[in-house]
Parts: sequence; structure tokens; C-alpha cells
Amino acid sequence: EPVLYVIATPIGNLNDLSPRAIKVLGSVDLIAAEDTRHTGRLLAQFSIKAPMISVHEHNETQRTELILHKLAEGQSVALVSDAGTPLISDPGYPLVRAVRAAGFKVSPIPGCCAFVAALSVSGLPSDRFMFCGFLPSKASARERILQEWVGFTATLIFYESTHRILDSLASMLKVFGPEREAVVARELTKTFETIRGGCLQDLLTWMQADPNQQKGEFVVLIQGAPSTEVEQLVDEHSLKILQRLAQELP
Ligand code: SAM
Repeated sequence: EPVLYVIATPIGNLNDLSPRAIKVLGSVDLIAAEDTRHTGRLLAQFSIKAPMISVHEHNETQRTELILHKLAEGQSVALVSDAGTPLISDPGYPLVRAVRAAGFKVSPIPGCCAFVAALSVSGLPSDRFMFCGFLPSKASARERILQEWVGFTATLIFYESTHRILDSLASMLKVFGPEREAVVARELTKTFETIRGGCLQDLLTWMQADPNQQKGEFVVLIQGAPSTEVEQLVDEHSLKILQRLAQELP
């Protein structure tokens, strides 16, 4: 049976590529990669040879047609991105949607995901969280989006790059206030892995003081707003029922 495998790759440490991922990458008829040169280097490390095509933002519709065609011919295809799990702030969503709609099997080969790794060591509440991906580069747009999350009681998770980490932290401080607890997870699984928690003011001051801490890839996690008293006593579902009942009262 032809399958589209969605395969997670390492986020820094090559040893995180799973044995199953290696096996499947070596067995498919075609690898659809976000960047064929980048994935080519990964495959070379594991002596995997397979035909590759690129699938990125700008050619995904076209490539979807081609991949549907391959699957119809009975060939299996692997989707990988440059790092971590495809579709998580990475290409693949239109492809997976179309392949499922066409009735083909889509199967995950799970592995690294930067925000899951960061959340698992953050010490912030992990029972409820919102993954928000990358924030806009313009301060006004960024702060407008952050504003929407100010009263949200679950942990908030953002991706950030070297270029914008300081600006983003500054926006977060401005919108959430200096006292809000947060965690910055930098360069996970790599040599300079750093996980630092504190209030937004302390984190920004610390990072401003050390240019080395501004380099690399980041996950920023912000503790949710404290829940109101009623929310602490009853769960979300019960709260909805209570609110509904309250409407019925004279
Ligand atoms: N698909 C990936 C995943 O599963 O996490 C994310 C891809 S996204 C284009 C890249 C962003 O993920 C980076 O800018 C950074 O925010 C985060 N990221 C990736 N690798 C990371 C790492 N080793 N440490 C911290 N953050 C990382």
C-alpha cells in the first residue's frame, strides 16, 4: 500500500534521528524535502540514497499534484522539513490535507519537535498550552497579537530566531508586564543548549547583558495568566454549563 510518511528529523543533534526514521527514509521511492541540500546532508550522514524533490511554501500546490500521482502509481513518499516535525511552523499542511482527502494513507514517524522538548523541561504548566508559532516581525502587529493572549490562562509557546529574540522579549514585557514568568529555551540538543526561567524583566536584562545568549534558535514559553477564583474551583466544561444555567435565571 502506498503511504505518505511524515517524518520528524533532528533539531540539532543528529543522534535524535530515530532508527525507524532511518529505515523508512531508506525505503521510500521519493523524499519530499523542504530544502533538498539540507536534507541531502542529513541523508549522507546515514548513507541513505533516495530521489528527492523540494516542497516549500512556493511550490507546494504543484508538488502536491506530483506526489498524488506517485501515490496513485503505488509509490511511497516521505515528507521531511529542515528540522523537527514537518507542518509545525514548516511546510506540509496543504500536502497532508490533499493526500488524506484523496484517500491515501498518511503515517507519522514521530520524533523531535522543538516546542514539545522545551515545554517538557520548562517547569511551566504543561497540562494546557497554546502553541503560537512565530510572531510578526513588525512591533505593532506583534504586540496586537500578544494582546489577544494577555488573559489566557494556559501556557503560551512561541518560536523565535536570533534576529528578533530581543525585540520579541521586549514586546512580551510591554504587553504581559515585567513580572510575568517565562522560560527561554535556546539551542536545544546542541552544544550551547540553555534553558533559563524568570520573570520577563529578568530574562530581558540577562539576555541584553550577554550577546552570546542572543544567538541561535529559541522557544519562548510564557506562563498563563492566573485563573480567576471560579475557574480554579470548577473545570472548563462545568464552567460553561454554569454560565449557560445562569442565563436561564430570572
Ligand atoms: N518543525 C520544527 C519543530 O518541530 O520544532 C520547527 C521549525 S521552525 C521553521 C524553526 C524554529 O523552531 C526556530 O526558529 C526555533 O524557534 C525553533 N527551534 C528549532 N530548533 C530548535 C532548537 N534546537 N532549540 C530551540 N528552538 C529550536
